[in-house]
Amino acid sequence: MRLRTSEPATRREGRYIGRWRLTDNFAGHDDPLLVRAARDYSRAELLDRDRQWDKGNGSVADILPELAEMGLLGLMTPEDVGGLGCSYRTYAAILHEIAYASASAAVTVGVHNLVGLVVDRSASPDLRRKWLEGWCDPNNFAAFAISEANAGSDPGASLTKADRRGDGFVLNGEKMWITNGLSARWFVTLARTSPDKGKSGLSLLMVDGNSDGLQRTPIHGKMGIRGSETAVIAFDDVKVPTENLLGTEGGGLSASLAALDGGRIGIAVQAVGIGRACLDEMIGYAREREQFGTKISGFQAIQEMIADTQVELAAAEQLIGYAAWAKDTDRHDPAACSRAKLFASEAANRIAYRAVQLHGGMGYVNECRVEQLYRDARITTIYEGTSEIQRIVIARHLLETGRR
Ligand SMILES: Cc1cc2nc3c(=O)[nH]c(=O)nc-3n(C[C@H](O)[C@H](O)[C@H](O)COP(=O)(O)OP(=O)(O)OC[C@H]3O[C@@H](n4cnc5c(N)ncnc54)[C@H](O)[C@@H]3O)c2cc1C
Repeated sequence: MRLRTSEPATRREGRYIGRWRLTDNFAGHDDPLLVRAARDYSRAELLDRDRQWDKGNGSVADILPELAEMGLLGLMTPEDVGGLGCSYRTYAAILHEIAYASASAAVTVGVHNLVGLVVDRSASPDLRRKWLEGWCDPNNFAAFAISEANAGSDPGASLTKADRRGDGFVLNGEKMWITNGLSARWFVTLARTSPDKGKSGLSLLMVDGNSDGLQRTPIHGKMGIRGSETAVIAFDDVKVPTENLLGTEGGGLSASLAALDGGRIGIAVQAVGIGRACLDEMIGYAREREQFGTKISGFQAIQEMIADTQVELAAAEQLIGYAAWAKDTDRHDPAACSRAKLFASEAANRIAYRAVQLHGGMGYVNECRVEQLYRDARITTIYEGTSEIQRIVIARHLLETGRR
């Protein structure tokens, strides 16, 4: 396994994704160099920017060319179409490093990669190649448009409709809460293709963001992850060619749920990245802050906070590790992804609470990073399925299969 970085000036013959040269025997999916590069890049380039994004100055989408250059837009894209072809385990390790520096960047990159996987799995061979060969190009930035104002936990209630007309569909409706929605070129969209068939009447369509009739409206005032875009996407007679149907007509809901399964690993990792950033802030502050004539790190109550945090992070990492391994080895185990997402996201919120507590009054002002981490952590129990929905998936799986 070999993977080399290249200087643009000395770029040699060969296939590249961003700065990575894919050598003949490239097996980049498990190369630790990628994880190290993501770590160095995120800490050097994303941490400070993330603080600015949180204050409303710009967003992750402003640096898409840079993310592309790092290969982060093609992490999960298969090698035969020019991606890095990472395994879920390596993907998780890379996303963790990004999330440590910027939860907003992690979800931005995570959603784009997730959509690439849906295309890989369900587009026709010709379109798969056409779309995915350009997936590492920032101009093909993507979003996953499932939720609607009245269809969140229950995407089967989606009302956006795609009527057959001529040689394609005509799309009408409105999607809500769409990450990457302001800058995306492509929207994988869940729409109703058969009005009378309930949950079996939904299909996934690849919608070109440049189409006439597609309108994007930003959602302002988010509590956290302010560097990531969130938008309402309205479709008013948007034309979609028949060939842009992903998978089978009527199979959209199950395809969406299967994709969310992998997405949940991404959110679990995002939560652990936030939690680990909290832990480092806690350790740093506890070593410096003095009260009662001694460092607060000497107080048992503070040590408990630090110890509980480390244990919870280690447990979350184990759950993520198993879920990623199950994905990599084609074991169908949606409950594994839900367990990882449920535990990691709830733990991140407990950890962020502790991090603020350990910092005392300093933790309550935005000069201190834990104030932002506390707000960033909050979303992780909500999107890609709330904690309540994860519990339903876990319990249902257990009750139906008896498999522990
Ligand atoms: C910042 C952000 C980014 C997002 N990005 C995307 C995106 O890119 N694409 C996309 O499609 N969506 C996205 N979402 C939407 C997100 O996935 C939904 O918000 C989430 O699934 C919850 O749906 P809801 O908000 O409609 O809440 P609701 O479904 O209305 O839930 C309200 C409450 O009821 C509970 N509840 C619902 N059903 C049950 C049940 N059966 N049993 C027990 N409790 C239940 C929920 O757990 C919750 O506590 C995003 C949301 C946010 C806030």
